[in-house]
Amino acid sequence: FDIYFQQTAPSSLAMRDRADNSLVAPTHINRYFFPSTYPVFVKKADKSKIEDFDGNVFVDISCGYGPHLLGYAHPVINQAISEAIANGFVNAIGHEAELELAEILVEALPGAEKAILSNSGTESILQAIRLCRAYRKKDRVAKFEGHYHGFSDQGMISSWFRFTGEKFNPQPIAGTQGTDSATVKNTLVLQYGYIEGLERLRSEASELACVICEPMPSLLANYDVNFLTKLRAICTELDIPLIFDEVVSGFRVAYGGVQNLAGIFPDLTCLGKVIGGGLPCGAVVGKKNLIDIGKSSQDPFSDYEKKAFVGGTMSGNSMTCLAGTATLTYLKEHPEIYVKLDNNTNWLAQKLLEIGHSHGVPIQVKANRSIFSLTFSHKNATYFREKQAGSNFKVNLALAYYMRKHGIYMPELHTLMLSAAHTQEDLELICTAFNLSLQEMLED
Ligand code: PMP
Repeated sequence: FDIYFQQTAPSSLAMRDRADNSLVAPTHINRYFFPSTYPVFVKKADKSKIEDFDGNVFVDISCGYGPHLLGYAHPVINQAISEAIANGFVNAIGHEAELELAEILVEALPGAEKAILSNSGTESILQAIRLCRAYRKKDRVAKFEGHYHGFSDQGMISSWFRFTGEKFNPQPIAGTQGTDSATVKNTLVLQYGYIEGLERLRSEASELACVICEPMPSLLANYDVNFLTKLRAICTELDIPLIFDEVVSGFRVAYGGVQNLAGIFPDLTCLGKVIGGGLPCGAVVGKKNLIDIGKSSQDPFSDYEKKAFVGGTMSGNSMTCLAGTATLTYLKEHPEIYVKLDNNTNWLAQKLLEIGHSHGVPIQVKANRSIFSLTFSHKNATYFREKQAGSNFKVNLALAYYMRKHGIYMPELHTLMLSAAHTQEDLELICTAFNLSLQEMLED
C-alpha cells in the first residue's frame, strides 16, 4: 500500500509524520491499539462522507465511533451550534439548555427521574459507579467480560482483548498498563449470556456496589432478553444497583436505547456519543434516590457521609446541550429514522455475507439496528471471547486499507456504524468495495 497511498494521499501521510512529533497518535483507535500505517486526515465531513486533504472522498462507516447518527454537518445540529455561538456559549453557570437536555433524556427513559451531565461516556461511567459505591458503601463492581466501559481503570478491566480464566468463570485482568491493581482485585467478572453465572452475584452480594452491563454488547451486536430479565430480577432482589452502559446503543439502536427495545430497565443508565450531537457529552440518567446522592447539601461538612461529588467544569456546557437537545428532539420527531436504519443495516449485513460466501471466505456478520461488525471466522460466536479468539485482526486491518482504496472509510478495528445520512447508493458502494477488496485480497 505504500506506493498507493503515497500517490493518492500524500497530505495524509505528511500529517501522519507530522503528528508523530507532537501527538501521541492521530486517531482514537490508534491510541488504544496499534498505529495506523495510513491514517486519514479529514478536511471536510458532510452527511455520510468524509474528504481528505488530497480531495479523496470516502463513504464513512465509522460515524466517528458512534456520535454522528444523523450524519455529518446536519443542518439542525449546525443551527443549534450557531445559536450557542451567537449567544456566547457558557459553562459552569446555570442556563436553560442544560435543563432541556436533562428533561428530554429523563422523558425518553422509562423509570428515569433525573440526570447528571458530563463530557464523555467514560465520565458518565465513573460518576455512576461512584454514586453506587456511595449508596451501598461497598467497593466491588461486577461487570461482564468484553464490555468496555470507557478508558478508566475500572472501565477497561477484562475488556476487548484482555480476558483470562475459564469461559464461565472469568477472572479480572487489567485492560491496560498503568491500572491500579486494587481496582482489578475489586472487580467481579461474569460472562454475558451465561445465566447460571449470575448466582455469583448472590454469593458476593455483601461486597458489591453495583453491576454494570452493556445490555447489547456492541462487539456482538445482540442482546439477550432472558439473560437481562434474570439480571434485573437478581439485582432488584439483592438491592444492588444495575447500571446499563448505553453509551453506544442509547438513541442509536432505538429512541432511548436497548432498554426500550427489551423492556428491561436499569437503575442508572450511562449515555454519551449520540446525545451530544457530535460534541463531547455524557450523562447518567436514572432513579432519583441514586442520582440525588450527587446533589450538594446545605452543609457539606456534616453531610459528607451521604454525598458523592459529580461536578465538572465543562459538564452541561451550553453548546453541547443545545446540539444534544436539537439531535434528540429531531430523533423523537422522526421515528422513521430508526426503521430506515434497521432496514439498511439488515440489507447491508445480508449482502456482505453473500459477497463473503461468493468468494468462499469464512465470514460472520453481526448486525443490529445501525451497528455491525465483520469477522473472518468459520464460527458464529455466542460469547465475547469466542468472537475475539476467532477474529483474524490482520485480515480486518488489511480489509480497512483495501476498502479505502475503493472509496470506503472503515476504522481499522472497531464496530462499524451506519447513519441516517447513508443512502441506498452509499450502501451499494460499500458492497462494491467489499467485493473488490475481497477479490484483491485473495489475489494478493
Ligand atoms: N461505554 C461503551 C460501551 C463504549 O463503547 C464507549 C466508547 N467507545 C464508552 C463507554 C466510553 O465513551 P467515551 O469514549 O465517550 O468516553
